[in-house]
Amino acid sequence: MFNLSREVTCPHCSAINRWEGNDPQPEDELTCLRCRRFITSHEDYIHSLVKQEVSRTMQRYAYRSVSRDLSLLKLALMDAPRPSVETLSY
Ligand SMILES: [Zn+2]
Repeated sequence: MFNLSREVTCPHCSAINRWEGNDPQPEDELTCLRCRRFITSHEDYIHSLVKQEVSRTMQRYAYRSVSRDLSLLKLALMDAPRPSVETLSY
């Protein structure tokens, strides 16, 4: 999931910083509270968040096996209760 805490680790000193305020503008900059160096703009921050989420989602589905999923589905259907004779009457 998305980084809801909006925390960003400073690439220069590894301090944890976070975006403040409800709605940072794209051009707003995050500056490290410890070393005072520029970390990222809000636009770049959002862009990297989306890239990470897309990458994570793609990895989740990249190694799925269709045949394994089908065999699991068959097993699930075999365990499903079968209709009784009465409900099969036409
Ligand atoms: Zn720093």
